[in-house]
Amino acid sequence: MKWMEDELALLAGASLERSLRDTVPVPGRAGYAVRGERRLLNLSSNDYLGLSQHPAILEAIRQSLPAEGGGAGASRLVTGNRSPYSRLEEALAAWQNREAALVFANGYMANCGVIQAVVGRGDAVFSDRLNHASIVDGIVLSRAEHARYRHNDMEHLRQLLHKHRDKRRKLIVTDAVFSMDGDRAPLRELVELKREYGANLMVDEAHSGGIYGERGEGLCSELGLGDEVDIHMGTFSKSFGVYGAYVCGSRTLIRWLVNKARPLIYSTALPPSILAGISTALELVQTERWRRDKLVASCLLFRSSLSAAGFHVGHGDSPIVPVIIGDNDRALRFSEALEENGIAAVAIRPPTVPDGTARIRFSLSADHSEAELTDAVSVICRLGLEFGVLNR
Ligand SMILES: *Cc1c(COP(=O)(O)O)cnc(C)c1O
Repeated sequence: MKWMEDELALLAGASLERSLRDTVPVPGRAGYAVRGERRLLNLSSNDYLGLSQHPAILEAIRQSLPAEGGGAGASRLVTGNRSPYSRLEEALAAWQNREAALVFANGYMANCGVIQAVVGRGDAVFSDRLNHASIVDGIVLSRAEHARYRHNDMEHLRQLLHKHRDKRRKLIVTDAVFSMDGDRAPLRELVELKREYGANLMVDEAHSGGIYGERGEGLCSELGLGDEVDIHMGTFSKSFGVYGAYVCGSRTLIRWLVNKARPLIYSTALPPSILAGISTALELVQTERWRRDKLVASCLLFRSSLSAAGFHVGHGDSPIVPVIIGDNDRALRFSEALEENGIAAVAIRPPTVPDGTARIRFSLSADHSEAELTDAVSVICRLGLEFGVLNR
């Protein structure tokens, strides 16, 4: 294993080595975390609605434990399919106004499983260059041709669709909100292209579910595109504050996935108590609208303050606010300085983002107050000047 040491030394030398660090939650305050001795404002979590500490969710999980036990004991197709699944899936389909829904163990497995089940050798998948790694891995596992188009570049996508027009099946897949940039996919144009070329469209709402739409259904629903999206995927691990993922679509799609999605077939079902937590979270996403409204106001405040101070924060309006730094080492040192000043904001480096675009990816939660965010902005501006991220 000498080669590993050599490669790790290279990674460390390029400020690209990663390591695991303990993070301790703060009960009742989803927007904070303790690392080492410090209580930090957590600007590096995907707990957008602050639901991970919601008492109703914790209570639902606690109450279901004695009856359901710790683990499901088998995959859903064997004996792991406890009764809460069907209730949850009916509620999900109703929420998304689709025929049917299917719960997966997590978003990574949902993406890998769906793409593998829907396309194979002789097919083509058209995928945005900045799509999430789980989509990329699903495409690789599927053995279909991987046609990557430049980020949000519909002209490039059209060229690729044209080039591969004779492929057996065609699937366009995109994040609705991009996980490291916080900007939106041009969903209306994607729908037009998928119609024109007879392709299917899959949308990953990991970072938009719970946030957009009348009842938090996501961006597709907010744009009135629900029925045009053949495969609608989202997770329970971000806005929902719990764990797991869902796919919504036609009854036929769900029947197909039950038969063909390998991560569903060959992996143990979720711990059943988690299903109780997810069901409660699904109700809260729809009923506690104030969380969405507060989050939207926070996004506006945080983005406009950083942007007014001279930071380039990208094109989005989501709770993901990237500050691109470029150099890996500087991004790391900036992140360390933020932590010393009470803010958890992790440096995101290649290969998670393209080379030369290391960044701090700030993410907001409905648990943060306006005063906390205003204070954070002044710290970020002060350190931004110190680290030459802000030029003045
Ligand atoms: C986080 C994420 C996933 C994976 O979801 P998990 O439930 O955390 O496995 C999938 N897609 C995107 C776009 C994500 O950001």
